[in-house]
Amino acid sequence: MPYEYDDQNVFAKILRGDIPNKTVVETEHTLAFHDINAQAPVHVLVIPKGAYVNYDHFGAEATAAEITDFTRTLAKLTADLGVAPDGGGGYRLIANSGEAAIQEVPHMHVHILGGRPLGAILARAAS
Ligand code: 5GP
Repeated sequence: MPYEYDDQNVFAKILRGDIPNKTVVETEHTLAFHDINAQAPVHVLVIPKGAYVNYDHFGAEATAAEITDFTRTLAKLTADLGVAPDGGGGYRLIANSGEAAIQEVPHMHVHILGGRPLGAILARAAS
């Protein structure tokens, strides 16, 4: 099934400059900015500039240049944000994709969380 991208999503608006953001770093293919509702002392969102709905879409259809740029930018950021495992305490990456993960914004993004102990990977659900 082809991926359907909604260009009215909030991150598309940020990429167009219609909505302001607190940019951490911008490269040719990637933008990183602070989450508006931070869940930890460090909470940064990393997004590709291309129109990809979720991680599946990005992994399947992004170019090698986009994937390399995204991965290298994210890896460098953890050090710049002071949360690299080697001396910074470590971090967690989250890429909510689709309904079960309650993906709020349908533009592929990875959360970088850190700056405090993050607890277990998942909250315990009732069933
Ligand atoms: P998701 O649940 O889709 O993985 O996470 C979407 C994230 O986007 C949430 O953590 C939310 O706080 C963040 N977010 C939603 N709207 C905005 C916005 O306008 N600006 C910024 N910087 N973050 C946003």
